[in-house]
Amino acid sequence: MIKLGSHVSMVKPDYLVGAVKEALSYNANAMMVYTGAPQNSFRAPIEDLKIKEATKLWTANGCSMDDIIIHAPYIVNLANTIKPETFEMGKAVLRNELIRSSAIGAKYIVLHPGSSLSDTLENGIDKVIEGLNEILKEDFDVKVCLETMAGKGSEIGYRFEHLAEIIKRVDYPIGVCFDTCHTWDSGYDLNNLDEVLKEFDEIIGLDKLHVIHVNDSKNIIGSRKDRHANIGEGNIGFDVLSKVVYHHLLKGKAMILETPYRDGVPPYKEEIERLLNVSI
Ligand code: FE
Ligand code: FE
Ligand code: ZN
Repeated sequence: MIKLGSHVSMVKPDYLVGAVKEALSYNANAMMVYTGAPQNSFRAPIEDLKIKEATKLWTANGCSMDDIIIHAPYIVNLANTIKPETFEMGKAVLRNELIRSSAIGAKYIVLHPGSSLSDTLENGIDKVIEGLNEILKEDFDVKVCLETMAGKGSEIGYRFEHLAEIIKRVDYPIGVCFDTCHTWDSGYDLNNLDEVLKEFDEIIGLDKLHVIHVNDSKNIIGSRKDRHANIGEGNIGFDVLSKVVYHHLLKGKAMILETPYRDGVPPYKEEIERLLNVSI
C-alpha cells in the first residue's frame, strides 16, 4: 500500500485535529507536522493538542498513527561545537519534542543532523553523536530519523557515510529520512534510483529507512542548495519521483511532500492525485 501525504500545519485552536483534517482533505494517508513553529521552541501544552479526537478521526479513516511523522524544529543544532549553550538548548528542545511526539502516538521524528559551522565536519559529527547519546539514554517510544541533507553551508548528512557514522556510534536505535531534493542537490543521481538505493543499503541499510520526503528540486544535481520545487516542475522530474513512490524497496514507508505552496495555496491534493494515478 502506498502511504502518501504531505506536511500539514498544526496550529491553534484545533492543533492535531486540524492537521488530520487538512491531510484528509488532500486524500492523504500519511502526514507530517511540526509540533509548533519550526523556527522556535514555544510549544502549546500537550493537553491542548486534541490528540484523542485526532487519533479517532485519523484511524476512522483507515490511517495509521505510525504514518503521522513529526519534524523536529530547525533550531536544534546538535553539531554546534562552538556555543555550548546552543548545544544544550538543542538537547532540551529535542527532548521536549520526543515527549510530545510520543504523547501524540507518532513513531518517527525527523531531525536535521546539524551544521558544524566554522568547525570541521568530523567534530560536528562527534558532537551530534554525543548529544544523541545523552538524550536517548531516556527511553522514548519514538524513533529519531536523521534526514539526508543537501550540504548547504556546513550541513552534516549530505553523504550517506555521515549518517552511517552517527548511527554506528549512537548506542540506541535511530533511523533515516531520505529527502529526494536533498539527495539530488548533494549529488546523488536519482535517475539511477536502483544504484542510489543499493548504495544506501550498503552504507546505511534500507531497514533503517522509515520516511521519504518526496520533493522536486529547483536546482541541478550537486548544487548543494536545498530549494524544493513542485512535483514535476524541477530538475528531478515527475518520472523519477513517481519511481520513488512506487519503488518495491520503499514499499510501506511514509512518503511526505514538502513542495512549495502556489500563490499561497497548498498543491498537495493535486500532487497526491497525480502521483497516485500513475499506472505501472
Ligand atoms: Fe527537513
Ligand atoms: Fe525534507
Ligand atoms: Zn529541504
